[in-house]
Amino acid sequence: MKLDQQYSGNVFILSSEDYAASKAVIYGMPMDFTVSFRPGSRFGPPRIREVSIGLEEYSPYLDRSLEDITYFDAGDLLLPFGNAARSLDIIGEYVRGVLADDKLPVGLGGEHLVSWPIFREVHAKYPDLAIIHFDAHADLREQYEGEPLSHSTPLRKAAELMGGSNIYQFGIRSGSREEWQYARENINFYPFEVLEPLKQVLPQLAGRPVYLTIDIDVLDPSCAPGTGTAEAGGITSKELLDAVHAIARSDVRVVGCDLVEVAPAYDPTEQTQIVAAKVIREMLLGFIK
Ligand code: MN
Ligand code: MN
Repeated sequence: MKLDQQYSGNVFILSSEDYAASKAVIYGMPMDFTVSFRPGSRFGPPRIREVSIGLEEYSPYLDRSLEDITYFDAGDLLLPFGNAARSLDIIGEYVRGVLADDKLPVGLGGEHLVSWPIFREVHAKYPDLAIIHFDAHADLREQYEGEPLSHSTPLRKAAELMGGSNIYQFGIRSGSREEWQYARENINFYPFEVLEPLKQVLPQLAGRPVYLTIDIDVLDPSCAPGTGTAEAGGITSKELLDAVHAIARSDVRVVGCDLVEVAPAYDPTEQTQIVAAKVIREMLLGFIK
């Protein structure tokens, strides 16, 4: 007999085994093939699941419990090491199925390039999509060392697909001069800060479908050292949770979300994956209506 998986750490805490009844699908994308500095985010998804069993089911912020909602943990996609293009195709195909089943895709990275095929699929389903992006980096490069498939390019690809006026970036504090110029001219760009500008923007997005993509390095390295390109000067974990709650309480319609760039090997304290697991819990509780 198979033992109960819900508190095993093999799945995100309290995941249902009933796909059909689930409103959201958690899926891992263990890819770190194009990172510009330290690899290791391919090991993010399983560690986030393992530490999730340390969470309470109840969120006092939202007065809601994981027992009140139904979500499925699909495990990790099987991605061919070193082949970014084919990995992105596999991710896109999987997310297309989740969207066709009218479930909320909740992605675990992996490096940030994994979000690009998701943006494409979510935009195909919701042509009036807006993207909210929390990150230390703008990820707006056209290419990195000549390579357009890089973890520094996914938001540029999204801007070219759906128009920079539909992209809202917060917390950015690093990048090339060209990237910042592009951001200032083409994107709704709110560098350095997250919560205050987000509160200003959310009313403008009322009623619209929104995809939220969170790069864990938006956090200060003191909150989340376990990431490939840690960048000093970031926000606290409290501010990140406040921002997720502001979106959950707003009138936007969240149609998908992801959390990427957790690289557990750089954080022996495990705080990075512990904060990531809590953010995932709050996204599930806040975004599953
Ligand atoms: Mn990023
Ligand atoms: Mn980043």
